[in-house]
Amino acid sequence: MSADQTAVPPNAAASHAGREGKLLEIVGIDKSFGHLRILKRCSLDVARGETVVLIGPSGSGKSTLLRCVNLLEPADGGDIFFEGANITADLKNAPRIRRQIGMVFQNFELFQHLSAAENIMLAPMKVLGLSRADAHDIAVDLLGKVRIPDKADAFPDELSGGQQQRVAIARALAMKPKLMLYDEPTSALDPEMIREVLDVMADLSAEGMTSLVVTHEMGFARRAADKIVFMESGEIVETASSEAFFGGSVNERARHFLDQIL
Ligand code: ADP
Ligand code: MG
Repeated sequence: MSADQTAVPPNAAASHAGREGKLLEIVGIDKSFGHLRILKRCSLDVARGETVVLIGPSGSGKSTLLRCVNLLEPADGGDIFFEGANITADLKNAPRIRRQIGMVFQNFELFQHLSAAENIMLAPMKVLGLSRADAHDIAVDLLGKVRIPDKADAFPDELSGGQQQRVAIARALAMKPKLMLYDEPTSALDPEMIREVLDVMADLSAEGMTSLVVTHEMGFARRAADKIVFMESGEIVETASSEAFFGGSVNERARHFLDQIL
């Protein structure tokens, strides 16, 4: 089933560049904060159209890994390829890369002084130079897509947590990202709102949106994931197809973790 993803040969980076099909390839990423080694030679691929679910205990390095992919955090070693190009090599390209990667956080992080539509319109207007009218059309369209068509003029504090998170997803989609990163998008939500957010994410995955999702919602993983990656203490311990994973072929440490959360 899963190869040992941590055992990457030294010249693996070169052979990864330009490989077809892989939208994202993380190759042997290292990251330390001070003396603490947080990521230990982590490797992970996401193919175009694939949804990969990343699970693991709190503090295992999942958020740090996502932040490295989005170039919010520089990795100390290893390489990250996006569409075959090494994006860690030259950080001056970071803004251009980041525009192509949508990120959704646990706490929504909407601009409180802007309406739902204005939150969505901001980047298309500022970054892509769209007119207000064109950006508004996009916002209305996306609010329909995330199933809150009547909330364009609502401010974040007038929306439920589940609605706010769906505005955050729409805001990320407005830049037409090639990859979506979700960092525990439902863990701050009341149980009755989790489903509506996961449904939107699962729809996007089914439509072929390439996604890397940190979540412990195993129902979502079963429904939407092509691949499950288990991380522990900064290491990727297991990478398995969804069929293998839910078919019971899970290694001992991943099994122990699942037993605790399920
Ligand atoms: P997870 O998302 O799996 O819970 P994180 O990536 O948030 O894990 O954190 C992994 C480890 O890195 C934790 O021990 C955390 O305290 C530490 N860490 C994360 N960010 C920083 C930072 N900016 N400075 C120092 N330590 C950090
Ligand atoms: Mg985290």
